[in-house]
Amino acid sequence: MPELPEVECVRRGLECLLIGRTFRLDHIGRRDIVGSLAHPRGQRRGRVLPVSAECLLDGCVIDRVLRKGKQLAIGARSGRWLIIRLGMSGQILAGDLPESKKNHVHIRWLLSDGTSLAFRDARRFGSVIPCRDNDALEAHWRQLGPDALSVESTDLQRRLHSRKTPLKACLLDQRVLAGVGNIYADESLFRARLHPQARASGLRREQIDQLVLSLQLVLRSAIDLGGSTLRDFCSPDGAHGSYRSAHLVYGRKGLPCPVCGTVLRGARIGGRASVWCPNCQSRRIKSSRDE
Ligand SMILES: [Zn+2]
Repeated sequence: MPELPEVECVRRGLECLLIGRTFRLDHIGRRDIVGSLAHPRGQRRGRVLPVSAECLLDGCVIDRVLRKGKQLAIGARSGRWLIIRLGMSGQILAGDLPESKKNHVHIRWLLSDGTSLAFRDARRFGSVIPCRDNDALEAHWRQLGPDALSVESTDLQRRLHSRKTPLKACLLDQRVLAGVGNIYADESLFRARLHPQARASGLRREQIDQLVLSLQLVLRSAIDLGGSTLRDFCSPDGAHGSYRSAHLVYGRKGLPCPVCGTVLRGARIGGRASVWCPNCQSRRIKSSRDE
């Protein structure tokens, strides 16, 4: 959390706020949340990178805000980029902050129209990563799999073909597919009627087609509703997302399946709590010989 839909909502909010405006670095608190391309999670154990104000886009005019998977990149006319990883609880907030949100602000900029923009992160799994030019951004983003909102079945099939790990663990691996986390993996697998523990390499082409359709339907619906707010997430204007009310299985272990009424099961898969319907989602992936 936040996953692709929440990050896309932040991107759209930032695009409206930032394009054509100049950044002024106003405050930097914890410098250890500034990462590098070699250490994207930021510096830990008190290490701090030497970082110039220009690396944090001070004095730069913003002309693009991009997203790949769960990462954002704010681009300046000078060619510099600042990658932003929101981690577990990262927020980018515009305007005057309420008293309850004034803590945990690690970086604050002032825009040329007087608006302030804050990077706030209570749990500090997020980071900002200076990036000198397009080539460096592209090289960094090539380490990620294709974006889940636009991935094609043939590409996902090729990526799952040799993986004997559970399907859900593959979907969570950002090198296989970028943008999907725990919520949208469970929701998409339920709609595609695929068991999260099914072996990824065993999927037939039509099952992968269905998975891609389900993923993209779920992600687009969530973007339309401003994402899912479980606790911290909000868009730059402070608005919460309402897709949580559309969750069919995530967080509903022990409750009846909304389709068949069977009690939903839960287990940890790939280290993450997972929920599925044992009736609607078959663990056995049929091979073509079964038919
Ligand atoms: Zn069911």
